[in-house]
Amino acid sequence: MTTATTTDVEPALQLPPAKLFIGGEWVDGSGGTFASENPATEETLCEVAAASAADADAAVAAAHQALDGEWGKTSPRDRGKLLWKIADALEARTEEFARIETSDNGKPIFESRYVDVPAAVDALRYFAGWADKVHGDTFSVAGPFSMAYTLREPMGVVAAITPWNFPIIQAMWKIAPALACGNAVVLKPASNTPLTALKFAELASETGLPPGALNVVPGSGSQVGRRLVEHPDVAKISFTGSTEVGKGLMKDAAETIKRVTLELGGKSPNIVFADADLDAAVKGAYNGIFYGKGEVCAAGSRLFVEKRVHDEMLEKLVERTARLVPGDPQHPKTKLGALVSSEQRESVLGYVEIGKQEGAEVAHGGVAADVNGKGYFMQPTILTGVDNQMKVAQEEIFGPVLVTIPFEEPGEVVELANNSIFGLAAGVWTRDIGKAHAVAAKLKAGTVWINQYNWYDSGAPFGGYKQSGFGRELGSAALDYYTETKTVWVGK
Ligand code: NAP
Ligand code: MG
Repeated sequence: MTTATTTDVEPALQLPPAKLFIGGEWVDGSGGTFASENPATEETLCEVAAASAADADAAVAAAHQALDGEWGKTSPRDRGKLLWKIADALEARTEEFARIETSDNGKPIFESRYVDVPAAVDALRYFAGWADKVHGDTFSVAGPFSMAYTLREPMGVVAAITPWNFPIIQAMWKIAPALACGNAVVLKPASNTPLTALKFAELASETGLPPGALNVVPGSGSQVGRRLVEHPDVAKISFTGSTEVGKGLMKDAAETIKRVTLELGGKSPNIVFADADLDAAVKGAYNGIFYGKGEVCAAGSRLFVEKRVHDEMLEKLVERTARLVPGDPQHPKTKLGALVSSEQRESVLGYVEIGKQEGAEVAHGGVAADVNGKGYFMQPTILTGVDNQMKVAQEEIFGPVLVTIPFEEPGEVVELANNSIFGLAAGVWTRDIGKAHAVAAKLKAGTVWINQYNWYDSGAPFGGYKQSGFGRELGSAALDYYTETKTVWVGK
């Protein structure tokens, strides 16, 4: 037994096999390998096997075998029990998953530990509860027939394609409802962050999920992802990612009339009226843009502030932001981690330059940050003097960059807020509850938060208006997107 103290030494990451998980087995891909990088240290965590189009086909075949075999014969109640068991197993290993998520993505460990992994566990439990409650209806119908009823059937093989900003959460928002409804899943995780999805496949399999019910195929989006979208035996694509990729995906899916749900980008307005609790609004605006490094689809990235309180609000916000120091994501006190990749930081800093050229002023940040000489860190950034028509107010920056826009009165701000191709989320801050509801009703967004921002729950639907996508994840609404309705007529 060792007597040396190990309290200061981090245990090694317990990485999953960096291969493809198909039909319950780890297999080598035939698409080469790619490096999974830690963006805070620039170190390669591991080389991951990349799937080819042929591997994607093998995963789809394995998923069909699962539907024809043990998984397809598992009763809804047993599916629920199994999902709950997997949730318990994931919860018990929160720390292992959290450390891998933080290492792969660069997000602070406090987020992975207290938000990402627990939210994934919660989604599994929530949809476990639905597994045996998805049922059809009976109808009184005219004509010589006596009745009609509906069956809610699984769609078949669901391909889930996920982004890199919330890897385990995004995966679970798809896997949990898909499996609860009796589908089989082929998951293509983002190339920047493939590791927790692979580790989850291992855990689910060890906990008793039958072979082929969940397959994971890391690899290039334009090859593996696209093959899944075009595959004639995939019934449905559940995609979360950029609007640009989503548009191409819709076209590719059209060929086979595939069911598609799209959770895409955003440029969400966060609106502060002069009668708001200003300190609460400052906190909400700050969390709305800097939580998750601003690499959050629903980030409150356009801050509209009523003119009368604009300067006061800005002063408080800058003061708070100045205390947000980028740091080692593995440190428990770090609140701003590393952006996911060098390219992402370049792109975000590029937007700051565009903003400056457009006439915006940098009230805070705007530059890269040095944390031990390594990693893709940047300072939290606030741009002022922004007009809603500027590029930095219209395009998704997807980083810790807030633009602030003053406004005169409620009618004007609703129009400005809705003047965007996106419609994912919005925030409203006011003590006037009547005004809050009136503005919420007029905003073209899938989620509106009143006097709070960035709250989610497995029970509440989430999704976009306009070019932020269609379909809803979470809540009972999600079940509609993982089942087909069959109407059966019964004659005499
Ligand atoms: P992305 O570039 O669109 O990639 C998303 C996923 O699609 C990745 O797994 C990617 O693979 C894959 N992909 C790329 N090209 C493809 C193709 N032609 N066919 C099929 N799949 C393809 O997005 P990202 O940069 O990872 O994520 C950031 C974006 O996601 C932002 O726009 C953000 O707003 C959005 N997002 C939306 C939500 C929401 O719920 N609305 C949530 C989170 C993020 P590779 O990784 O190999 O490229
Ligand atoms: Mg990575």
